[in-house]
Amino acid sequence: MNAKTVNLAAGLYFVATPIGTARDITLRALDILASADVLAAEDTRSLRRLMDIHGIALGERRLLSYHDHNGGRTRPKLMQYLAEGCSVAYASEAGTPMIADPGYDLSKEAAAEGYLVTSAPGPTAIATALTLAGLPTDKFLFAGFLPSTKNARISAIEALKEVPATLVFYESPKRVGAMLKDAQGVLGDRPAAMCRELTKKFEEIRRGTLSEILTSVKEAPPKGEIVVVIDRAGKVSVNTSDIEAELREALTRMTVKDASELVAGAHGMARRKVYQMALGLDRSDE
Ligand code: SAM
Repeated sequence: MNAKTVNLAAGLYFVATPIGTARDITLRALDILASADVLAAEDTRSLRRLMDIHGIALGERRLLSYHDHNGGRTRPKLMQYLAEGCSVAYASEAGTPMIADPGYDLSKEAAAEGYLVTSAPGPTAIATALTLAGLPTDKFLFAGFLPSTKNARISAIEALKEVPATLVFYESPKRVGAMLKDAQGVLGDRPAAMCRELTKKFEEIRRGTLSEILTSVKEAPPKGEIVVVIDRAGKVSVNTSDIEAELREALTRMTVKDASELVAGAHGMARRKVYQMALGLDRSDE
């Protein structure tokens, strides 16, 4: 067993658990699971299984189920344990609590009552997908699950159109085709990645434009858990002849410098590169 029993101060401990491979758990998370006075979990069976794998006995300790549907009833019990000076560990079914998972009300209430609220950080599908997608990670927006009905989904994507950051979505394999199609329709054919079964046996990353990934989804429908990552606006791939056509048109109205700035700005391209293209066009037209 990797876990050791430690003295935990009274308070609420949010514990991140693996999103696939059971050994993707921190030593501190194991220590907390081995030592907390009371355990609570979104799915008590998953937590028991994880503890078994890592040789952690529940012993005489309480393990309560706490999820979206019973939070109103279970939260007062957990608050009572905190009031009695207990250390309470909470884990969601997989990954980081509160990332598209329960825990928010519990965290808010415990903090408002002045109890220690802390976390043992660890895996989340957001960070894992961003690491593998091959898209910029300097700024990203986690958009969670999109609505399942088409109109609501399209409106939700439209609201994200101008966000100057990489977009991260959780999606089900059943809906990913419809989601990619709507995303392409609203956002244009941006670079993207579909990250599937991360850290598991059938981990797979499909990279390409939204239309390329959509084609692959039609040819080989994906199974399992999915994160879709989409590049920000301004990185839409445009072919050289389209850029040249836009430059030619702009050059009928403005200087080479202004035309290059206009076209480069429209496509998020380097001004210098477009300027060189414009100079080339100018000469060939003479
Ligand atoms: N709390 C979790 C986290 O920190 O990532 C997310 C829980 S949310 C209910 C479940 C969704 O997360 C899945 O439907 C999928 O979109 C994504 N997800 C979780 N594990 C994944 C994995 N191993 N590979 C790809 N996506 C995953």
